[in-house]
Amino acid sequence: MAETMHCYRHPKRETRVSCATCDRPICTECMRPTDVGIKCPDDARLPRAARAGVMKPNQILWSILAGLAVVLVGIPLVGYVIFSLPFQWLISAAAGYGAGTLINRAGGRNGGPVAIAISVVATAIPYLVWLALPLIAGGDVAPFRVIAMIFAVVTAGLANRQL
Ligand SMILES: [Zn+2]
Ligand SMILES: [Zn+2]
Repeated sequence: MAETMHCYRHPKRETRVSCATCDRPICTECMRPTDVGIKCPDDARLPRAARAGVMKPNQILWSILAGLAVVLVGIPLVGYVIFSLPFQWLISAAAGYGAGTLINRAGGRNGGPVAIAISVVATAIPYLVWLALPLIAGGDVAPFRVIAMIFAVVTAGLANRQL
C-alpha cells in the first residue's frame, strides 16, 4: 500500500490508517483505539446501530451490480412469467422480496436508504418496461399490473429495512 491518504478531518496530514467502520483515512491525532480496531472519532463515539446502513463504496457498487442483475432477470421474468400467472400481486411480493434480499446481501447486509433506493428502482424497472409497452402501442395499462408492481417494490424496500 504505497498509496498515501489524507486525514478526513485534517486534509493536509498524510496517513496510512483508516477507520475500521467507515474506511475514512484518519491521522494519529484522530485515531481512537476501540476493541474492534482503530476508528475515527465519529464512529468511536457513536454506538454501532447509529452507523448501520452506511455502506462502503464497494458495497454500494455490489448493490448496484445486484440491482442490474435484478433488472436483466426481472424483465423477461415479469413479462413472460409473472404477467401470465394468477395472483400476480402475491408472486410479485415474493419476487420483490427476493430481489431486495439479493441486493441487501450484495451490499453486506447493511440495508438502509441506499440499499432501499437501489432495490426499489431495480424492482420497478422490469414492471415499468412492461407497463410502458401497451401505452406506447396506444393501449391501456391493466390496473392489476400496477398493483403487482407496487407489491414488488414495497417488499423489495422492506427486505432492506434496518432492524
Ligand atoms: Zn469512521
Ligand atoms: Zn486528523
